[in-house]
Amino acid sequence: MGKQRLLILGTGFGAMALLRRINLQAYDVTVVSPRNHFVFTPLLPSSTVGTIEFRSLIEPVRARRPGIQFHLGRAVHLDLAAKTVHCQCVVSDAAWQQDFDILVLAVGCVTNSFGVPGVEQHAFFLKEIEDARRIRQSLVTNLERASLPGVSPEEQARLLHFVAVGGGPTGVRFAGELYDLLRTDLPRSYPQLVGKPRVTILDSSNSVLSSYDQALREYTQKVFASRGVTIRTATRVEGVTEQGINLPHGESLPCGMVLWSAGFARNPLVAGLDVEKDPSGRIFTEENLQLPGYPGVYSVGDCTRPRSKYLPQLAQVAEQQGRYLAASLNAAAQGKTVAPFVWKPWAVSSFLGGGAAVSEGGDSGSQLSGFWAYQQWRAATWTQLVSLRSKLLVPADRLRAFVFGREISRL
Ligand SMILES: Cc1cc2nc3c(=O)[nH]c(=O)nc-3n(C[C@H](O)[C@H](O)[C@H](O)COP(=O)(O)OP(=O)(O)OC[C@H]3O[C@@H](n4cnc5c(N)ncnc54)[C@H](O)[C@@H]3O)c2cc1C
Repeated sequence: MGKQRLLILGTGFGAMALLRRINLQAYDVTVVSPRNHFVFTPLLPSSTVGTIEFRSLIEPVRARRPGIQFHLGRAVHLDLAAKTVHCQCVVSDAAWQQDFDILVLAVGCVTNSFGVPGVEQHAFFLKEIEDARRIRQSLVTNLERASLPGVSPEEQARLLHFVAVGGGPTGVRFAGELYDLLRTDLPRSYPQLVGKPRVTILDSSNSVLSSYDQALREYTQKVFASRGVTIRTATRVEGVTEQGINLPHGESLPCGMVLWSAGFARNPLVAGLDVEKDPSGRIFTEENLQLPGYPGVYSVGDCTRPRSKYLPQLAQVAEQQGRYLAASLNAAAQGKTVAPFVWKPWAVSSFLGGGAAVSEGGDSGSQLSGFWAYQQWRAATWTQLVSLRSKLLVPADRLRAFVFGREISRL
């Protein structure tokens, strides 16, 4: 029997874990994705302030697994019955049809604007390298504009007010990174602005890091309060404008930059797919990650979940599913089967800046906060980096930032 055609959609955590392990003797592998690299998202907030360079967080897909086919494009329509995918190039008008024997949907999810007016136009998301680049540029631009002669005190205060909407791990880590930037690099590069920038986190729930244990949430609030970072919970954003944020009862919050990290929405490809899904739109799979009723069609990561249990939208879930699917497909090529997928939770941590973090879970189920949680976060993120290249570049970037300051030139 000839090789089976395996088509993988996406180059995120799930796809890369699969790609690294799949047996190329048994499968003819094609990857279609709008980006030709993998992005290590846990350290994206560090790249928004110049602690870590953008290229240290990416892995080129082609170099990672020679022998595969890669096409730069987006799947726009799936015909699961006919076993074909319609694809559209993201840098030209080229369009093509990709037939498959086995399909793996690993397209992740997108940031949810919840239809709030002005979010798409005026707020920044943080999911891709391009997002991090735009945020860094905006931060530096605001620091420069606030330093211009003749700028009014009101306009200066607005430009130097940075707001994260969404007090989950992304918003909290961004505030932590920003705190470090303002604490250590502002006196060096913008001494005239020291003490002027403000950081605010807004969340519609009753706490930041609401998925963490109460003691860690309280610790986080205490640490941020001691640094002058404002946390406003139970606060719903009604609109974002060029000048700031609109809140209920006619209140407006002038600010110079808004990071929007309020939640996830379905990937448009998944939204348009007529298969069984949970109420939030994630594709249901069987325990072996196959779509019910579609032999040879699998899904991993944020866009999916087993029908029988809830799984969080985390890199560690996507990664373990990608590994599992590689083992399962490699076994199938030899006529063997493997046991159903079981997620083994690892610890989750959030960096708070200032050498502190919070961490919980994993095998021991223990909780940590402060310096030792920070060390654990550093060690865990380093271990999870997917290549020797990144494992060398990330510490080198940290050392460079420590010795020479963060890279915050306006490029
Ligand atoms: C800032 C940030 C920090 C995070 N920190 C952590 C953390 O510390 N720990 C943790 O466990 N999780 C973390 N996460 C969550 C983690 O990144 C996700 O859970 C994980 O990336 C999901 O992996 P995935 O493979 O499902 O999708 P993704 O990694 O999102 O990848 C999706 C892929 O599909 C591609 N794609 C999209 N649409 C199409 C299409 N139509 N056709 C083809 N390809 C398509 C995309 O370009 C991308 O390559 C973080 C996320 C963010 C944004």
